Amino acid sequence: MADKIRVATASLCGCFGCHMSLLDIDERLVELLKLVELDRMPLTDIKQVGPCDLGIIEGGVANAENVHVLREFREKCKVLVAIGACALNGGLPAMRNHFDLKDCLEEAYFNGVGVQNPLIPNDPEIPLLLDKVRPVHEVVPVDHFLPGCPPSADAIWTLLNGLLAGSPVDLPYTQIHYD
Ligand code: SF4
Repeated sequence: MADKIRVATASLCGCFGCHMSLLDIDERLVELLKLVELDRMPLTDIKQVGPCDLGIIEGGVANAENVHVLREFREKCKVLVAIGACALNGGLPAMRNHFDLKDCLEEAYFNGVGVQNPLIPNDPEIPLLLDKVRPVHEVVPVDHFLPGCPPSADAIWTLLNGLLAGSPVDLPYTQIHYD
């Protein structure tokens, strides 16, 4: 166990599609689990990230909790990887950046189709939204980026193999080319 690489993952403002793509490495997961031990991630349901060798972040930074989680990952993980379009450039959630936050909230909670009781939720338990959705690297330094929506399972596998072996990550063109 001492030689295993400790890995944590988190989805910030993402759809978990990048996590699903990680699971799509299928039977190679068995091989992977011989090399890693799992820290905070959806599979373990651990809530706090501990000291880790590798942190993998999916999703853009859309609210105060995302900022908090991301800073914790940067503090606790030796190597931080941003995977997927949302983490790299805001992706789909960043479509709201074209509008004022106030207009987005009013559209969702006052003017939207089917709204019954117009009210913008303001419970203190709900994380405050940022004015704009930010890519991960605008909040903390990131060591590696993997594009795609989501990146393919093969691309994730290539990246993980390189990182776990401590060798330069060499992604073939076919794994990072998108029509
Ligand atoms: Fe989902 Fe695509 Fe964003 Fe990944 S990059 S979290 S698959 S929308």
